Amino acid sequence: MANRKGVFFVICGPSGAGKTTLVTRVRQRFPDLVYVPSYTSRPSRGPKELTAGRYRFISKEEFERRIRQNDFLEYASYAGHYYGTPRSEVQTLLASGRDVIKEADVQGVCQLRRRRLPGRLVAIFILPPSLQALEYRLDKRGTESAAARRRRLAAVLDELGALDLFDYIVINRRIVQSVERLSAIIRAEIASSAN
Ligand code: 5GP
Repeated sequence: MANRKGVFFVICGPSGAGKTTLVTRVRQRFPDLVYVPSYTSRPSRGPKELTAGRYRFISKEEFERRIRQNDFLEYASYAGHYYGTPRSEVQTLLASGRDVIKEADVQGVCQLRRRRLPGRLVAIFILPPSLQALEYRLDKRGTESAAARRRRLAAVLDELGALDLFDYIVINRRIVQSVERLSAIIRAEIASSAN
């Protein structure tokens, strides 16, 4: 299977939908799946996030320099900050047959759908069980100001209009069940790409 190309799993969903927890648990089950952290110009939410490995934090100026250099496979501005996927890292991994998982927002998935990638793109949307549940989780997390929370909730309503971009939708009611569902999707997609 020297020619097998990797599968690119892109996980999308509003912040507060439980996406990060879900991705962390799923990664533990698939040790060969490579997690590619995003670049962002958003400040970190604290020292814990700085070292958590989910993001590479850079300044807005540095991000814009990288945009000009065409360093991103896709990038977007979300709630006032830039987020982007490193181009050569993902392409090299997929071309060498490694399966990749990373997060992106709807704008990112939309751009990735138009790219010619070395492997297959599988886009998965994680939905909160309700908007109230999302508001509750964002409030409980308490990492955003009231204005930032409003911007994020407005972004969610936009995202819901783009659900047809996705191959799968997982409604995150109970984390244990969602981990099972996401794992089943990943297992099936990797198995079918081996043929
Ligand atoms: P947060 O600030 O809550 O960590 O992320 C805000 C949004 O940016 C989330 O929807 C998250 O999935 C998305 N995001 C994270 N990394 C990327 C990326 O590389 N590209 C794009 N387009 N969105 C991303």
